Amino acid sequence: MITLHSIQEALAEFVATSPLNYVTEQMALVPEDVGQRLYDAPIVKIGAADDPLWEALKAPQAVGELLRTPKEWMAEARSVVSYFAPFSDFVVDGNRDATAVGNGWLYARVEGQAFLTEVNHFLERWFAEQGVKALSPYASAEFKYVFEAGTCEAVENKSLSFTSNWSERHVAYVCGLGTFGLSKGLITERGVAGRFGSVVTAAPLEVTPRPYSDIYEYCSMCGACARQCPGEAITLAEGKSHPKCCAYVNVMREWYAPRFGCGKCQVGVPCERGIPKR
Ligand code: SF4
Ligand code: SF4
Repeated sequence: MITLHSIQEALAEFVATSPLNYVTEQMALVPEDVGQRLYDAPIVKIGAADDPLWEALKAPQAVGELLRTPKEWMAEARSVVSYFAPFSDFVVDGNRDATAVGNGWLYARVEGQAFLTEVNHFLERWFAEQGVKALSPYASAEFKYVFEAGTCEAVENKSLSFTSNWSERHVAYVCGLGTFGLSKGLITERGVAGRFGSVVTAAPLEVTPRPYSDIYEYCSMCGACARQCPGEAITLAEGKSHPKCCAYVNVMREWYAPRFGCGKCQVGVPCERGIPKR
C-alpha cells in the first residue's frame, strides 16, 4: 500500500545514495568540495487532483492561464505528490557572505536542479513498480516555461513572459508544504532554503491537511530578506521585484559562468530552516 511514509522513505534513500546528489571531481571548483552533499532528505505532502485551488492558479496574479491542472496533465490523476528538498548545510552555510555566492549554492542551482529532474523520474519509476502511473510535469517533454533569459523587463508583464504550465512552488502550496514569503520563496517546516518537485499520480492517496488559509501565513514580514538582498529587489511595501532580482542574477551569471545564483534572501534569515516566530 502506498502511503506518505513509504513515499518519504523511498525518496530519502534515493537522495542519500544517488551519486548525482554529491559534488564530483569533474564539477568541483576546489578539491575540498568533492563528495559534499547538495540536498537533505525531502519532506513530502499530498494534494487531491480535484482540489479547486488548481483552477484558481490560472489567475494572472497566480501562475497564469498557461497552467495545466493535474487532470489536464493526466486524465486519470487522483493525487499530486509534492516534495521539498532542503539544501544541505554545505550549500546553505557556504552562502553566508553578503555578496559572493558560495560554491555549494552554484552547484545546487545548476547540477542540483538537474538532479531534481532525476528525483522526479525516480518517483515515476517507483510508482510504476507499485503498479500505478505517475508523471512529473516538470520533467516531461511538454513542460513549458515562458521566460526570455536576459530580458528582465519582460518579467514585468508576468502573464505573458514569466509563466509556466506547471509551477513547483504553487503546487507545493496547494499540497500543504508551506506558504509564500515576502521574498516569494515558499516557507516550509524545514524553511525556505531548498527546491521543490512533484509528480501527478493515478494513485488515490490520502491527502495531507493544508494547515493554512493565507498565502503569506508563515511569513513574519520581518524584512530580513529585504535588508540582505544585494539587488535591492525586495521591499516591505511592495514585496519582490522580479525584474530587479533578474537583473542582479544576470550579473551573477557573468561573474560565475557557466553557473549562476544568489539566494541571499534565503540564508541568514528567520525562515532559513523553519517557520519563523512572529
Ligand atoms: S526573511 Fe522575514 S520577511 Fe523575508 S520571507 Fe523570511 S520571514 Fe518573510
Ligand atoms: S535571489 Fe538575490 S537578488 Fe533575487 S531577491 Fe533573493 S537576494 Fe535579492
